Amino acid sequence: MKFSSKRQFDLLNKIGFVRTSGSCEEKRAAEILLEEIENIGLKGELEPFEVDHYEIKKAKFEVLEPYYKEYTVSGYGMSGSTPSEGMVCEFEYVENAHKQNLINSKDKIVFINSGFNVKAYENLIEAGVKGFISFSGTVIDDESKTDLEDRKLNEKHLKHGKLPGLTIRAKDAMEMLKNTPSKVRITLEQTEGKIDSHNVIATVKGKKYENEEIHFVAHYDSVPFSNGVYDNGAGSVIIMELLRYYQENTPERTLKFIWFGSEERGLLGSKYYTDTHEEELKKVVLAVNVDMAGPILGYNRAFVTADNSLCNMIEYMSKEIGFPISVTQSVYSSDSTPYADKGVPAVSFARFGANGGAPGHNRYDLIEHLSAENIKELTEFIHLFSERTVNSCVFPVPREIPQNMKEEVDKYLMKEEKDKKNSK
Ligand SMILES: [Zn+2]
Repeated sequence: MKFSSKRQFDLLNKIGFVRTSGSCEEKRAAEILLEEIENIGLKGELEPFEVDHYEIKKAKFEVLEPYYKEYTVSGYGMSGSTPSEGMVCEFEYVENAHKQNLINSKDKIVFINSGFNVKAYENLIEAGVKGFISFSGTVIDDESKTDLEDRKLNEKHLKHGKLPGLTIRAKDAMEMLKNTPSKVRITLEQTEGKIDSHNVIATVKGKKYENEEIHFVAHYDSVPFSNGVYDNGAGSVIIMELLRYYQENTPERTLKFIWFGSEERGLLGSKYYTDTHEEELKKVVLAVNVDMAGPILGYNRAFVTADNSLCNMIEYMSKEIGFPISVTQSVYSSDSTPYADKGVPAVSFARFGANGGAPGHNRYDLIEHLSAENIKELTEFIHLFSERTVNSCVFPVPREIPQNMKEEVDKYLMKEEKDKKNSK
């Protein structure tokens, strides 16, 4: 069979809508993938797992002194609620929330720079602040052309405690700071709970090597406001086309195809899968992940979280057939990492947008920035790579994670911190 760029683009169009973790739309996308699997002649499976769910009922921010103004804000999910009449406190700008920024911040509502990390959040809690406001976007954003981000606190934040938080536009934040507010009120009301997200799974039984299994994976959820075609509808349709191929051309080894949910919330689908299928994972000799593909203005990448010989193999192939792809032994911020964490060699393929070529994680993740031909070419390269692993006489990749990669994976997943806590 030949890979079809048209078929891939059609499916990409079908799932090209906002489909955030645990939403009805994510479920709808899962059902579209299931339908496609059935069209191929297989029966797919939906695997539910629980994720945080919140609904913001009210998010309000007012400067009370030395002037009055209400600013448009969004509420941080899972960050709790204020009393219904709001919370009035003194205000302070604490930049990146180093301890030096927080000497006099007790009982205040603080304003913190965008992109703050867990350490900064921990510092806020230790300093005894009452709430926080962070900013989204840039100071040159046009309001009609950009979205105020929807953010949430994750478990890494929440283990240090809960602080009600809001997000304001960068432009508003700058204007506000120019006017040096001293007293503010924040009002946040939200419901918090759990909801199901889903992994979609299809299996193609192998003919020969019963004790060796290969997984092809891609996440199919998106971030808020994004149609998620570049990230990662494209990867989803790439592995679907590979499923179609192997359904028609029975492989030597058993293959599992998994579309993970809730990747954008912290690799939740793949973490759930690798945590709950430990017995099965013992058989898995390689995980092949595809996350982000298709930009017209772009370049191909491979991230190998495995023995260095796998890098060489991909590089040789690239030269052999004249397909440009830069290969590094590294950890990719995607569903390959939970596999590597469990000792399964993993490789991620991607085609990234060149700088300015394909915006992601916002409303501009659009199919018009992508080409069906680019998606097909990457599919063909991954297929060629797969043929040399899926059907090889002796499996060529050592089933171990080199020490340097283990350390990087641990760092990425903040293992040290976890272990320290467990040993107490
Ligand atoms: Zn992604």
